[in-house]
Amino acid sequence: MEAHLEICHAIDSFQEKVVPLSHDIHEHPELKFREHFACRVLTQAIRELGLEVQTGIGGLETSFRCAFGNPGPTIAILAEYDALPNGHSCGHNLIAGAALAAASGLASMRQKLPGQVVLMGTPAEEGGGGKIALLDNGAFKEVDAAMMAHPADCEYSAMAVLAMQHLRMTFHGRAAHGAAAPWNGVNALAAVLQTFQSVDAARVHLRDLSRVHGIITNGGQAVNIIPELAQCEFSARAITAKYADQIAERIRRCADAAAMSTGARVEHETVCAYKNMISNRVMTQIYERNSEKLDTITREAPPGTPTGSTDMGDVSHALPAIHPMFQISNPGEGTCHEEVFVRYSDSERGYTAMSRVAKAMALTAYDLLANSEALAAAKAEFASARK
Ligand SMILES: [Zn+2]
Ligand SMILES: [Zn+2]
Repeated sequence: MEAHLEICHAIDSFQEKVVPLSHDIHEHPELKFREHFACRVLTQAIRELGLEVQTGIGGLETSFRCAFGNPGPTIAILAEYDALPNGHSCGHNLIAGAALAAASGLASMRQKLPGQVVLMGTPAEEGGGGKIALLDNGAFKEVDAAMMAHPADCEYSAMAVLAMQHLRMTFHGRAAHGAAAPWNGVNALAAVLQTFQSVDAARVHLRDLSRVHGIITNGGQAVNIIPELAQCEFSARAITAKYADQIAERIRRCADAAAMSTGARVEHETVCAYKNMISNRVMTQIYERNSEKLDTITREAPPGTPTGSTDMGDVSHALPAIHPMFQISNPGEGTCHEEVFVRYSDSERGYTAMSRVAKAMALTAYDLLANSEALAAAKAEFASARK
């Protein structure tokens, strides 16, 4: 199709602009909600394409939204660009580059686009739930379908993504001299340790594919003081939001029991919660067809494939959406959040794959705009999946 060729050609010629930009974001890793450098270089590049862009949408300083095209249906392509404490070990610089490049391809023919494209910058995927704030604040209001692509050690058009609850428990005890008067103390750290033991005992009863993992974020103040304050965090994940809820409740009970037995007082907090991903099959199939045209076979991940969580799950509960994974490393050689993935996220292989998925997403967005039956089918599927 002529439009497809035009889009791919524009993305090819944008590659010399987007690779250095993605590399720059990689060299300036920024944690959730602090992605000021990434937001600045991305919006600058958008303006250089002759497009208008608004920042600070949905109450998030480092978000942006750029819409172009013509009246008609609206497809959103989402960019993430936050890093982790160990750098760009989740490769979000490639997600941002792929989304920007896809938009550049579609923008090259914006006068004759059969609808509207929105390029949205979504901060704080790593534990901040930026997309949830954007959803709540109406940023997706006129969007008919949304997509993004994430780097990995595998190539999948769709995969089950776990629902997740991030819990924090703060135990309040009573300080006392550890040697001279320990009987006057209430040990908050003991409550944390008991919580971990109870959670580990509960683990054997959890359904397949569930995950519970935790850290101690405060283990006491000084070795000669009975800890008066201790804190831990858990992530509870499951294939449905409902089951993640049940696991979270069980973890809270473990903490309550530990508080009771030690005499400490526990305070519960839900830091954030992500829904599981409902991958839209109609959109997935269009993405697969376009990937095949670009010489890459991509299929849905087999059930039980290990996975994480994302706030794209919440988007997929609000509108038809896909979140394909694209391969930038060999299976088993390292994947997201590992030290070695920082290197893959800034590699020639990574940037080549970034360009290819930019095309696959842009063509998929174009097909959804051009083929009203396909978009209607995606929406009908979404409506029935919701029931
Ligand atoms: Zn990640
Ligand atoms: Zn990620």
